[in-house]
Amino acid sequence: MTDPGNIPGWDDADARREWLQLPPLRGDHVADACVIGLGGSGLAAIGELVRLGRRVVGIDSGAIGGGAAGRNGGFLLAGTAGFHHDVVDVMGRERAVATYALTLAEMDRMTVETPDLVRRHGSLRLAATPDEVDDCRRQLDAMQRDGLAAAWYDGDAGQGLRIPTDGAFQPLARCRRLAGAAVRDGAALFEGTRAVEIRGGCVTTPEGSITCDRVIVAVDGRLAHILPELASRVRVARLQMLATAPAHPVRWPQPCYSRYGYDYWHQLPDGRLLVGGYRDHHVQDEWTDTDTPSEAIQHLLERHVRERLHVDAPITHRWAASVAYTDDELPVFEEVREHVWAIGAYSGTGNVVGAVCGRAVARAAVGESTPALELLGSGRR
Ligand SMILES: Cc1cc2nc3c(=O)[nH]c(=O)nc-3n(C[C@H](O)[C@H](O)[C@H](O)COP(=O)(O)OP(=O)(O)OC[C@H]3O[C@@H](n4cnc5c(N)ncnc54)[C@H](O)[C@@H]3O)c2cc1C
Repeated sequence: MTDPGNIPGWDDADARREWLQLPPLRGDHVADACVIGLGGSGLAAIGELVRLGRRVVGIDSGAIGGGAAGRNGGFLLAGTAGFHHDVVDVMGRERAVATYALTLAEMDRMTVETPDLVRRHGSLRLAATPDEVDDCRRQLDAMQRDGLAAAWYDGDAGQGLRIPTDGAFQPLARCRRLAGAAVRDGAALFEGTRAVEIRGGCVTTPEGSITCDRVIVAVDGRLAHILPELASRVRVARLQMLATAPAHPVRWPQPCYSRYGYDYWHQLPDGRLLVGGYRDHHVQDEWTDTDTPSEAIQHLLERHVRERLHVDAPITHRWAASVAYTDDELPVFEEVREHVWAIGAYSGTGNVVGAVCGRAVARAAVGESTPALELLGSGRR
């Protein structure tokens, strides 16, 4: 297929300014905590551990933000993966509302932390069918009943729901910036360093080891590779996107998603259009841990650009990455072995809730209670 390198559209000048290259880990290291996975979730955990005064080693088999965290849609959506009324059915109203509040607070925090990389324009859920119009109305009713900001939308982009508190960000640049800050604050981070085994307070890598009191595994789509005991609960999917050259005018400045979230797109301020989704087509092929784009899905994404959005700008990037799903679409957040914590399986929406879990798992791992553990800890289901 035409594969412009499986490079995300986020690999632009903003991300290159934040670029840092870290060496692989060699030799034997000692730390209070080892964090495996340097995406948004692992970096949030590292930031919190550093704030708590802990010595941290963080490793990634690839590059910082090289997994889903630097290769996603860039949507900042409150809540967990489901729509609010569906999440209420799964979690109960009180827990769903409290979780939503935690993610809103996390977005505010992200906005303050990296203001130049975040835009809070709101998001649009657009109905593609009469059924989906009804579902949007159910979502709106539930959100308004629970005091969450949402309004009916009927405008140029279609009809559905507007959530004014949502937003978008530059996910790859943010990962790199968080990593740079963590290194400056004393964390020891290593790229190109795969965790081969976790055993008795020791993480083994191809050329060394980390002896530590706590291990945090934050690898989303690769959770079951490292922790096979999670294999029956998580399922890996490939998600794909493409980006175009700038197209004007900018008609979709805010994240838009349709067909129950199976299609999603937005434009960056310079006009570049990012489009993802269609995982529900060729569905069996997309339940895979392969993370390169496929001809079939890329064809559908391109058709969306040309026929649905009527944009004829050339395609500049095509990319894919792995994420993990759970049956109830609530994340994994638990101590899976003594002193080994796992977070991930955000069911395709992990930018915000992943950061919530990352910061909370850091506190939980050092024995502090956190509201997020109470609300999202997998043991409570
Ligand atoms: C195309 C696409 C679009 C998406 N769109 C959105 C969106 O718009 N909004 C949203 O909220 N979510 C979205 N998501 C989901 C979101 O990107 C993820 O849930 C989130 O980024 C997960 O972050 P993470 O840090 O937990 O995992 P990852 O970013 O996947 O990071 C895990 C890291 O672990 C490393 N790793 C794996 N195995 C090992 C090992 N053995 N040893 C060491 N390191 C290892 C990987 O190299 C990787 O860097 C999307 C995902 C994709 C793929």
